[in-house]
Amino acid sequence: MTKRHLLGHLLGIVPFGTVRAMRLLHRGRHLTILTYHRVMDRPDYFPFDEDLISASTRQFRSHLDFVTKHFDVINFRMLDEYMEKNGTLPPRALIITFDDGYRDNHEVAWPILKEYGVTATMFVTAGFIGRRRMFWWDRIAYIVKTSPKRDARADIPGAAPVDLGAFPDRQSAARHLIRTVKNLPDGEKEDFIGRFAGIMGVSLNEDEHTLTMSWDQVRELIAGGIEIGGHSVNHPIFSNTGEERLRDEVSGAKRIIEEQTGAAVITFGSPGRGILTAEEKPIFERKLRSVIAESGYKFCTMYRWGLGYEKGFEPYGVPRISIESHDTDRLFKIKLAYPELLTY
Ligand SMILES: [Zn+2]
Repeated sequence: MTKRHLLGHLLGIVPFGTVRAMRLLHRGRHLTILTYHRVMDRPDYFPFDEDLISASTRQFRSHLDFVTKHFDVINFRMLDEYMEKNGTLPPRALIITFDDGYRDNHEVAWPILKEYGVTATMFVTAGFIGRRRMFWWDRIAYIVKTSPKRDARADIPGAAPVDLGAFPDRQSAARHLIRTVKNLPDGEKEDFIGRFAGIMGVSLNEDEHTLTMSWDQVRELIAGGIEIGGHSVNHPIFSNTGEERLRDEVSGAKRIIEEQTGAAVITFGSPGRGILTAEEKPIFERKLRSVIAESGYKFCTMYRWGLGYEKGFEPYGVPRISIESHDTDRLFKIKLAYPELLTY
């Protein structure tokens, strides 16, 4: 029996409400934060990165059924107000976050959030809003999925050559490339993608695809009670980025969003980073935290999995729980009930 099966059985014996009450009793107040990227029903033809779809509309509704029953859904702005007034975390708080700024956040997720009368925090990539640009992972998926070539080889600097014909499907091939490319310095990553498009015979006409929201959509979300947070300007791989560039990406996001919307931005959602060694990780996080503080944010989600406990609560190191479309409804509940026991 796997750990997940065991936890699933446990949840059948000890109901979620009891698990939460026991945690509150033993470890004190805590904040649960969920990470979504895209919410959508995948169309038959989908040339982009499928791994970015965190939930179908059915799954998202089922998540909200559960979440609204057991939690008070807030955003970071409301958290800030509560903490200023009471000096503690709210007792039953959960924050739903969305990364990147995909168009479906406005067109698909928001109408469902409204059905349930709940807010969210959406972290948008400022340089992609209102522009026809494709994120680097979508560019790789697009090249792999639309290429007329079946068996090309990808030569990623510093890695073993990748034989694209060896994967069961193109999404798996794209996933492997995305994971490998993530560890390249940012400039090398961009060079590779350009070269790879040429080898695969794909022209990346980014103007043909509107994947991210417009500023009008972002403004509408704000008027409707959604909090907008920063998620960098260009979404480079954060740990492969020099300090100067990091500063521009973090403070630039806040400046651009505030200029475009007139709303104060107090939260930063850290974009993905490459693989770091045990020594590199604290150095990188320290550097990032100081850039976040200098830029004037009050909260920052960090590369951590789990719950944010009041004891030792770090506003610049808020952990989250990542939601994936391959999670069953039962696994979703397990993730929320026992996040510390799941380690991916
Ligand atoms: Zn992101």
